[in-house]
Amino acid sequence: MRILVTNDDGYLAGGLRALAIAAGEFGEVQIVAPDREQSATSHSLTLHFPLRARKVEDNLTVIDGTPTDCVILAVGELLREKPDFVLSGINHGPNLGDDVLYSGTVAAAMEACILGIPAVAISYTGKTHDRLADWRPHLATLLRQLLVRTDFPAETLFNVNLPPIDPREVQGIKVTTLGRRAYVGSLTRANDPNGREYFWIGGGESTWWGAETSDFRAIHEGFISVTPLHIDLTNHRLLREIGEWGLNL
Ligand code: MN
Repeated sequence: MRILVTNDDGYLAGGLRALAIAAGEFGEVQIVAPDREQSATSHSLTLHFPLRARKVEDNLTVIDGTPTDCVILAVGELLREKPDFVLSGINHGPNLGDDVLYSGTVAAAMEACILGIPAVAISYTGKTHDRLADWRPHLATLLRQLLVRTDFPAETLFNVNLPPIDPREVQGIKVTTLGRRAYVGSLTRANDPNGREYFWIGGGESTWWGAETSDFRAIHEGFISVTPLHIDLTNHRLLREIGEWGLNL
């Protein structure tokens, strides 16, 4: 099995190494990852300047672009054969609920999905990331169950989050829905040393809510959360009702 591994934290991130090592149990791993931090770049695509690929190791190529660029270049040009599976992560931080709309980690898996390749995005919800290698046994167990499936659903990717606890304390795996997250106090308005006003998005506190089945709740209760995500954002349940609005010219 040929496995492409990528991320959005850049090729030096420990989570990328931990995932590549876990994936190595299942086949030939090639890493194509951004040359720097690309978190929260979502599904952005580089169209207005050229991209450079630099081979750092036999199985590691870095790109001066986004996670989506990495998947497109890897599949379209860099890899000898199309990968059987794309793994993205392990992200240094959660990708729960609304986070998936901003995440470069999830977008890389989504791009693979668009290219018809089964994909899994993996994120660690804790704050320190120096022990991600400890997750290898659990990751291998989970990946083994996903990678062997011959009925891997089309146009679907799996968004996996690992709880912020010792892997030995994990309660199990829950299949979840996306919850909701809101940030408070994450917008700073201040003046720079020259007296010019600036704004800075980041930091603050986040609160979450969601159904009993939500990813946040599973993580809160010490489970590994696995959310199947569909790339079709259409609100199918509303099609009939909106149709009855009689929108017309
Ligand atoms: Mn990231």
